[in-house]
Amino acid sequence: MNPVVPYDENAPMPEGLHPEVEQKTEELVNSAAEIGIEVVITEGFRSIERQNDLYERGRSAPGSIVTNARGGDSYHNYGLAVDFALRTPDGDVTWDMEYDGNGNGQSDWMEVVEIAKNLGFEWGGDWQHFRDYPHLQMNFGYSIHQLKRGQRPPASQ
Ligand SMILES: [Zn+2]
Repeated sequence: MNPVVPYDENAPMPEGLHPEVEQKTEELVNSAAEIGIEVVITEGFRSIERQNDLYERGRSAPGSIVTNARGGDSYHNYGLAVDFALRTPDGDVTWDMEYDGNGNGQSDWMEVVEIAKNLGFEWGGDWQHFRDYPHLQMNFGYSIHQLKRGQRPPASQ
């Protein structure tokens, strides 16, 4: 169940979003805009250093816990995840999952999630432990274990 994966110590850490994740994120924003929903991408690629800072929030640093992932343990660190929120007409950013800004009787949040899933994203809100509602990722079949050992999804799938 836990295959030994060759370790490539020279594999560079990504420095931005995987091209396909970037493209699908753009498509998500555009498709949502077409139905009157303005999506804000609040996070994309995250450096190991920033991930470690986030991990300390609610632990050694003030605030409440925002992540259970240390540097290297998040798909954000490999450019394979984005977080979203919604922008309201008055310019505010909201994480309100009930918000129905386009007035079609459905939660804008869940409409965005549906579009994202159709584009091939996995939604953090479906996870059984630590549900992460703003989180969308594409793992291309790579586990964190494989990514940590230097394996990388090719740039084009
Ligand atoms: Zn996330």
